Amino acid sequence: MSAPLPHPAPRPPIAAPLWLLAELTYRCPLHCAFCYNPINYANERAELSTAQWIDVMRQARKLGAAQLGFSGGEPLVRDDLEELVGEGRRLGFYTNLITSGIGLTETRLARLKELGLDHIQLSFQDSTKEMNDFLSSTKTFDLKSRVARLIKQYDYPMVLNVVLHRYNLDHVGRIIDMALEMGVDYLELANTQYYGWGLANRAHLMPTREQVVRAEEVVNQYRARIGNKVRILFVVPDYFEERPKACMNGWGSVFLGIAPDGTALPCHAARSLPGIAFPNVLDYSVHDIWYASGAFNRYRGDAWMKSPCRDCPEKSKDFGGCRCQAYALTGDAANADPVCAKSPRHAEVQAIVMQAQHAQNSHPAVAQPQAKPILFRTDANSRRMGNDGKPGDGRSEAADEPR
Ligand code: SF4
Ligand code: SF4
Repeated sequence: MSAPLPHPAPRPPIAAPLWLLAELTYRCPLHCAFCYNPINYANERAELSTAQWIDVMRQARKLGAAQLGFSGGEPLVRDDLEELVGEGRRLGFYTNLITSGIGLTETRLARLKELGLDHIQLSFQDSTKEMNDFLSSTKTFDLKSRVARLIKQYDYPMVLNVVLHRYNLDHVGRIIDMALEMGVDYLELANTQYYGWGLANRAHLMPTREQVVRAEEVVNQYRARIGNKVRILFVVPDYFEERPKACMNGWGSVFLGIAPDGTALPCHAARSLPGIAFPNVLDYSVHDIWYASGAFNRYRGDAWMKSPCRDCPEKSKDFGGCRCQAYALTGDAANADPVCAKSPRHAEVQAIVMQAQHAQNSHPAVAQPQAKPILFRTDANSRRMGNDGKPGDGRSEAADEPR
């Protein structure tokens, strides 16, 4: 651990983090085309040890974090997951396992129950075996279905998470039926976020406006029919909106993510931003990272904002949207998220949506003649794409020491 950081500049009061997300590993048996891990994950093999993770958890809990998510990659590939969950519970965290289900045997599930794991979020790619297995480039649908039954058998509160896009938005009714059959408590219909692999595959994944409208109607019909039997979260993909999402409820506001190698991040995708050296828990205390690092202070408050956000009455509602999306679409992370209709770059987002409209008559499982083939998240693709050094590859271009 380095020496205390020198004389941080006075800033408005900073609240403690509420949510610690431990991305235990980038290893994963699946190859999802929309994976939110960095494109160059295969070059990032380092992982914190069990003791190092426990130290991070203790520090974050001391700061005030109350919720602890274990994700990845696939957190179950770590055979110390049970030890980490046990320690998380002892520290008083509400613990959540975010998993594809692969590797969740009955023995492990029973042990996790004993240790007090609070909650499991299981992901499916679709309600049909064909599409589930196509999108993950694996044969995992049957196994996931067995895992879903086991999770209910062990009486866990369960969230079913299905990422939505052009390939499966028309299956929303069947996905809700599947959730009802499984007896899940909560169904998260999460429209694809266009970062990482999702951004690389945007031409394939972007739905048409008609698909989005139809899917929302179906969701509302189910909500009216089933009431609270399964609570359904459906968020319209932000490219179709006129205002951006309040990304992470503000940069460095509630969320503290720790990547497998110990890099601390204010959001999952933040490594895509150039010019920021994100601090590592092996070099700095979690306290100093959260309160005093240049990376976490970079987009706090509104002093960094440019026009039109700077003078906008809505800036305290959406914080100017998503920094990673602003960078990915405009090349400057301090610009307004161009999803916003007030952004001078909003027309480019509309053009992307229009392109999806033009492609609507093609069969979704067949690549457009003009489009690159769909890119599955594989180690080989990661090494090839990551070595190109394109924006979004997760590299930082310049040092930005914590201060
Ligand atoms: S999105 Fe798919 S490939 Fe990526 S970590 Fe999750 S299960 Fe693995
Ligand atoms: S101009 Fe900026 S602050 Fe205003 S609504 Fe748009 S993104 Fe939000």
